[in-house]
Amino acid sequence: MVSKREGSCLCGAVQFTAGEPLRPIVYCHCRQCRKQTGHFLASTATALDRFQLTCDQGLAWYRASEIATRGFCRICGSTLFWQRDGADEISIAAGTLDDSTGLIEDGHIFCAEKGGYYEPAGGKYQVPGSDRPATPQPEVLALRKPSMSPYPVKRRS
Ligand SMILES: [Zn+2]
Ligand SMILES: [Zn+2]
Repeated sequence: MVSKREGSCLCGAVQFTAGEPLRPIVYCHCRQCRKQTGHFLASTATALDRFQLTCDQGLAWYRASEIATRGFCRICGSTLFWQRDGADEISIAAGTLDDSTGLIEDGHIFCAEKGGYYEPAGGKYQVPGSDRPATPQPEVLALRKPSMSPYPVKRRS
């Protein structure tokens, strides 16, 4: 039996279950996550076939880039999901889980676009863009040119 966690938006008009295993928490400091959340996005993820919407009454999707959409509650405004087009997993804002006990921190991505009022803390790595290291690389702190686009854009021909 696969255990699962329950989650919801602030008002309850979006509710879901996410089956284990859930990905360790990735903090994304990209401009889009900053703007959507008002700070940065802490997200876990699960396979789509282990994910179920149990109430989607308030769910709306915003296409923020050419490669992904962002799910939120149109009633209470909660940041909920990030979904790459065609991917078989869905990212879930960690704070929307009713119980996130036991989830561990992975690291920080898009640090080149982070807000100027804090330093990323916790986790095993900090990288300037989207490349998450497979193994902990805490020494990777040098920032690449901040001119890179927030996401590696895959153009379809
Ligand atoms: Zn809501
Ligand atoms: Zn982001």
